[in-house]
Amino acid sequence: MTATTPSAPAAPTAPAAAASPSALHTPVNAWFETHARDLPWRRPEAGPWGVMVSEFMLQQTPVSRVLPIYEQWLARWPRPADLAAEPPGEAVRAWGRLGYPRRALRLHGAAAAIQERHGGEVPRDHHQLLALPGVGEYTAAAVASFAYGQRHPVLDTNVRRVFARAVTGVQYPPTATTAAERRTARELLPDDEPTAARWAAATMELGALVCTARAPDCAHCPIAGQCGWRLAGSPAHAGPPRRGQTYAGTDRQVRGKLLAVLRDALTPVGQVALDAVWDEPVQRARALDGLVADGLVEPLADGVYRLPGG
Ligand code: SF4
Repeated sequence: MTATTPSAPAAPTAPAAAASPSALHTPVNAWFETHARDLPWRRPEAGPWGVMVSEFMLQQTPVSRVLPIYEQWLARWPRPADLAAEPPGEAVRAWGRLGYPRRALRLHGAAAAIQERHGGEVPRDHHQLLALPGVGEYTAAAVASFAYGQRHPVLDTNVRRVFARAVTGVQYPPTATTAAERRTARELLPDDEPTAARWAAATMELGALVCTARAPDCAHCPIAGQCGWRLAGSPAHAGPPRRGQTYAGTDRQVRGKLLAVLRDALTPVGQVALDAVWDEPVQRARALDGLVADGLVEPLADGVYRLPGG
């Protein structure tokens, strides 16, 4: 029998005509002008705090699920000082079912630091934003750009997908953000601040509404004529298989169920009530330990549990 060598995956096809940065700015920004969704965090009254809250919530959660929680959050805590004055457990409770609840603790921590270091005003300076607890590269750039109209590359999943297709000519970006993507984002950034800030929001919206992961609507895309991936004949993804996120049966699901019991309870909860949410004891214990280790659940001396800080 003749031994065969597996064939190497095909290299991404080079785009037929790579899109040039400046040729993209005008059509994308003009498209945004007429197609941008009217979202509460884009209105002037949202202010920098509203933008920051929305950015924490929108990481990993779709707009439709964020909207009601955002409205409730801002109504209850219209300023960082209002949130900072409450125990972190109240932030976890109000986070509801948005998922990834550590974001609630981080947002509470950021509010406390804003109150302490910046007199309750969300800082305008990018480095000061980045120095806030729970604020990473993406959030700092997004707040500086959307709230203060500054010029920063804002690379979220949607933007990365648009750039991968239009500029690099491949169907999907790498699984984690690379130096090459950061370089592309910097090179694509318009020179003047207002256009750059508009570009950041516009590319994000284009990825969310038109250049979607599974079904890009190229027929209605303002840069279809310049898109590298499309001009190359929309070659199939050549990298490793893309895994969808599973939820059922995971520790994340168990953590969500445990946290829901604590969120709904007005007083600390005993072990029996927590045990009722999941049959498998080892996974249940691991999920509860994880919540405690993450500071999302506080064990009290008499074997009961509550959200942090009461
Ligand atoms: S032409 Fe299609 S693939 Fe290219 S950027 Fe537009 S929607 Fe995305």
